[in-house]
Amino acid sequence: MKQVKYDVIVVGAGPAGSLAAIHAAKGGAKTLLLEKDRDIGYPVRCAEGVSHIGLTNYVALDPRWIRSTIKDAILIAPDSTQVPVATNNEMGYIIDRRIFDYDLAMLAAKEGVEVQTKAYVYDLLKAENGAVTGVKLDYMGKKLEIASKIVIGADGVESRVGRWAGLHTAVKIKDMESCAQFTVAGINVDPGKILFYFGESWAPGGYLWVFPKGNNLANIGLGVNGERTGLGCALDLLSKFLKNHYPEASILTTVAGGVPVAKTLKRITTDGLLLVGDAARTVNPISGGGIATGMLSGKLAGEIAAEAIEKGDFSNSYLENYSKKWSKAQGKNHERLYRVKEVIFRLTDEELNSLAAKVINIPVSERTLLRIFKTLFMNRPALMKDILLAIAGL
Ligand SMILES: Cc1cc2nc3c(=O)[nH]c(=O)nc-3n(C[C@H](O)[C@H](O)[C@H](O)COP(=O)(O)OP(=O)(O)OC[C@H]3O[C@@H](n4cnc5c(N)ncnc54)[C@H](O)[C@@H]3O)c2cc1C
Repeated sequence: MKQVKYDVIVVGAGPAGSLAAIHAAKGGAKTLLLEKDRDIGYPVRCAEGVSHIGLTNYVALDPRWIRSTIKDAILIAPDSTQVPVATNNEMGYIIDRRIFDYDLAMLAAKEGVEVQTKAYVYDLLKAENGAVTGVKLDYMGKKLEIASKIVIGADGVESRVGRWAGLHTAVKIKDMESCAQFTVAGINVDPGKILFYFGESWAPGGYLWVFPKGNNLANIGLGVNGERTGLGCALDLLSKFLKNHYPEASILTTVAGGVPVAKTLKRITTDGLLLVGDAARTVNPISGGGIATGMLSGKLAGEIAAEAIEKGDFSNSYLENYSKKWSKAQGKNHERLYRVKEVIFRLTDEELNSLAAKVINIPVSERTLLRIFKTLFMNRPALMKDILLAIAGL
């Protein structure tokens, strides 16, 4: 690692960090991407589901990333009523994040980004006025300080970069999903179908997923609302589900982690710093999906960082253009989806069963998620408006 001054340092090489680095470099900024782990893309703490649009909006699809192509989705009510949802044939994929994240960092390197693993950022450098001016890192047992004009914090759900810069990054416990997941082998699952289980006995205040990866392999996991349980409980619930539904499964990987199903942080920039991805809380509050939205925030932040370098203005007032762009592109939608989430993850088992009984009568070709939400929010016009605007992306 060269100890020269960079224009932009990105902390964390997940999808958000790599996209930020790619777009900063594309805009002409001399960029360094730092990752604390030994390998980019590993360990994986993700169910690896992403929509076709969510992926291809930001990168050209490489077939090596795809473990299975999803054509069907089934919602399963607490009383076990199965509700297939109408989908188009290009719904999405279960990807392999070990390969995907690695490739994104390779794309960054191709754009001229210097990438460095085993580089653990433990603090920020700051000017007297508090502006962020670089990072302090631990690299191979050595403490280094590297200066930059801008730092992009892409350090994931447990992000500390924002807090070090003085931003308010805390997430309320009710806005965290406590997740557990097994990657299991030797089970008989349809490789084109994803399953979602709802209700108190599967995942209180969240949902349980079965995401097939081909070759009789699947990511099976669940998220429980932070107010409802501790992490131990998520693992207990998951073990119970596996014993009941797939007693033959062999568990190849066990992961646990939090997903912030919150609104995006009020402030995601300060002098010399931008936050992206999970660090900025860009996860879709309903689905808990953060790959695509993380890439979007990374792209926008990288572009603004490059513009700021060109203009020689790294002040918060310039970098705030990133927050504005994020808010227009997705942030406002997240606020709507957040309001909807507050209602749907509080539905009782009886309410979920009654909804399933109603929507199962809709012909399957017309049973879109929008129709299901319309049935649910028939008497709640404000939430109906939120859903309509969110789906239209306005
Ligand atoms: C169980 C589970 C299932 C999920 N399933 C899905 C799903 O199916 N689909 C979906 O879209 N999303 C899913 N998510 C969410 C998704 O994984 C995240 O939203 C996404 O990875 C966010 O990308 P990111 O780049 O912001 O952060 P990350 O992917 O977390 O990357 C952050 C990177 O920063 C590095 N880092 C952290 N601190 C430092 C430091 N101090 N110095 C240097 N490097 C550092 C980390 O090692 C990591 O590589 C799931 C999450 C969990 C926990």
